[in-house]
Amino acid sequence: MQIDILTLFPEVFPGYFNVSILQKAQAAGRLVIRLHNIRDYAAGKHRVTDEPPYGGGGGMVLKPEPIFAAVEAVIGRQKAKGRRQKAEDDHLVTLSPVHHVILLSPQGRPFTQQIAQELAGHERLLLICGRYEGVDERVRQHLVTDEISIGDYVLTGGELAAMVVVDAVARLLPGVLGAEGAAEADSHATGLLEGPHYTRPAEFRGWDTPEVLRSGHAANIQRWRRQAALRRTWQRRPDLLSTAVLTEEDKWFLRVLAEETVSREGE
Ligand code: SAM
Repeated sequence: MQIDILTLFPEVFPGYFNVSILQKAQAAGRLVIRLHNIRDYAAGKHRVTDEPPYGGGGGMVLKPEPIFAAVEAVIGRQKAKGRRQKAEDDHLVTLSPVHHVILLSPQGRPFTQQIAQELAGHERLLLICGRYEGVDERVRQHLVTDEISIGDYVLTGGELAAMVVVDAVARLLPGVLGAEGAAEADSHATGLLEGPHYTRPAEFRGWDTPEVLRSGHAANIQRWRRQAALRRTWQRRPDLLSTAVLTEEDKWFLRVLAEETVSREGE
């Protein structure tokens, strides 16, 4: 997969992208990340990228021209294949269906593991990081194909949000995580939270680890993990249980948990 990131601050990315799993994914050629400074596409001696908002008010707004120019330079201008109604209009960028142009925005659709999975199916992604008061509305209307928010709060810029999206998507690409299928048991991948993990030592300050996990009995370990995931989800995010895919055994275990809770409350 190739991910292009448009930003006014490309220097903030390498520290995170060039370590651990993301670094290995790039070294193995499974992930290509290209950083583009929006300022390089701004016209004039001063390469102005932002202006005060029409109508007044505080802050600055990112101008449309450098962002359109950057996207055109990065993915090229291509003849419409039905995506854009007015392809003959020279002012419109016409995008090939392989390009998914995402604006990071607190007004976008809330980012989830399901969206990360959906994005991992694309060959190329292009992420646009806003700054200041945000981007000129015409970028949203005529250039982007998706808007993503990483949460109901406002960040100074889209760079952290872009890192979050890249990280969550990259670890789902084939071969990126060491063990095949390692992401499949993660929290939210199956609709449940994952259960607890333990490692050596078996006993620490008098606190034990579950014996079953040290038993080497694969089926028992698997059952324990499933029940631990159900228990944790029941305790912390019961809302997830209404959409999770549950077996008959899962449903039986949830009934046991419910009965346990009722009898504890009755004590
Ligand atoms: N005035 C904008 C609003 O109220 O919607 C917020 C602008 S914010 C200070 C600047 C930029 O940070 C945004 O254009 C966006 O790219 C990014 N950003 C801020 N919060 C975000 C979030 N929760 N998710 C994704 N991007 C975010």
